[in-house]
Amino acid sequence: MISFELSEQQKQMKELTHYLAEYEIRPIALETERLKKVPEEFLNQMNQMGIHLNTASFKGDKAKNGRPKKENEANRMGVIAMEELAWGDAAITLSLPGPGLGGPPIMTSGTPEQQERFLTIFTADQPRWGAYALTEPDAGSDASGIRTSARKVDRGYILNGQKIFITNGARASWVVVFATVDPSLGRAGHRAFVVEKGMEGFSSPKIADKMGLRANETAELVFEDCFVPQENLLGGEKLYEQRASKASGFQVAMKTFDSTRPIVAAMAIGIARAAYEYTLDIVKKDFPKHGRLYQISLEMLAEAEQDIAAARLLTWEAAWKADIGIENAKEAAMCKALAGQMALVVCKKCLDLLGPVGLTGHLVEKWYRDVKVFDIFEGTNEIQHLVVARRQYAPYNIRV
Ligand SMILES: Cc1cc2nc3c(=O)[nH]c(=O)nc-3n(C[C@H](O)[C@H](O)[C@H](O)COP(=O)(O)OP(=O)(O)OC[C@H]3O[C@@H](n4cnc5c(N)ncnc54)[C@H](O)[C@@H]3O)c2cc1C
Repeated sequence: MISFELSEQQKQMKELTHYLAEYEIRPIALETERLKKVPEEFLNQMNQMGIHLNTASFKGDKAKNGRPKKENEANRMGVIAMEELAWGDAAITLSLPGPGLGGPPIMTSGTPEQQERFLTIFTADQPRWGAYALTEPDAGSDASGIRTSARKVDRGYILNGQKIFITNGARASWVVVFATVDPSLGRAGHRAFVVEKGMEGFSSPKIADKMGLRANETAELVFEDCFVPQENLLGGEKLYEQRASKASGFQVAMKTFDSTRPIVAAMAIGIARAAYEYTLDIVKKDFPKHGRLYQISLEMLAEAEQDIAAARLLTWEAAWKADIGIENAKEAAMCKALAGQMALVVCKKCLDLLGPVGLTGHLVEKWYRDVKVFDIFEGTNEIQHLVVARRQYAPYNIRV
């Protein structure tokens, strides 16, 4: 039996994050974007309140029947909170302190020592960030083609290569970096390393200038003979020896998306809802005198509401499956593709309805630019469809 009622804890999280979005985040959104600057003081306050960039983990803590020993709500709490915060502003939300995209690989594949070392630094005394670095200039959608190299040496590895488009990468205390010990091995050669800020040979020379999400930092990372100690190989040597044939490093990278794609979908839904609600207010106030146009506008907005609701249901399903320990890769890919596409259409529809007014220093115009990347990062829509097709058609021996 599926219940759509929020638990007490979920309701409280929704109310708190909506309050913050409405009264703290939205009022500084336009100015923050104009300055292209992360609002440090505000993020400091959020950190003290324990409001982090929430990328809850797919929990592997299962009992014999395949269900987790204890149901957790982390993924559902994550999607509820992220929708509200992104309703306030997605760039500021993505800049919130916390392990970010780097959290799930450490939670799912890190040794207990690594989890203790890297995940307990996110305390109230000082804002800190984590990051996840997979994308390279010649390896985005096809992550199996990464070229950042990891050469085994005494007591560790030497990394060389370049990563691009890394969210919060320049300010992160550590970054989960994917590299290959031998490109000819393909996926089986992949390893994940936790590279720490200040390690010799690790730098972040550039922040990208983007069309949207301009206040959030997207960094280039460079590794030049960067020595990474053995203890920072994620999961330790054993992880890769035991499952070498299954390409463990690549799996660590992909598994991350099962918990992060619903979070990204929820943020896209938050932006679409913001644009929809904002436009509806204006239509209700200014359009009644236009007769037929008023009717058409209301019908267009009703369709937007329906599409937002559909994307949310799929997103909640993906998050719920993650919480109870059921395989959710297909739902995670579907909700991410649907929400990214839907949010772009809804924001465009809102701009169309507002006409030229919407184009001039307006939140709707900003939302339209912000939302575009939601059908690109964490895998483009074409890649989400590939993930779905592979899972859907595998039982029929159809290769996609
Ligand atoms: C703001 C922002 C933040 C990001 N944050 C991070 C981060 O924190 N960490 C990180 O590692 N990466 C990050 N990325 C990178 C992002 O995940 C990649 O941009 C994305 O995966 C697409 O890769 P690409 O840019 O190389 O495009 P490409 O892979 O070159 O794709 C170009 C086009 O070809 C299509 N295409 C490619 N392969 C296929 C195929 N097999 N079938 C059909 N179509 C195909 C794609 O759908 C796309 O339309 C971020 C990107 C942005 C813009």
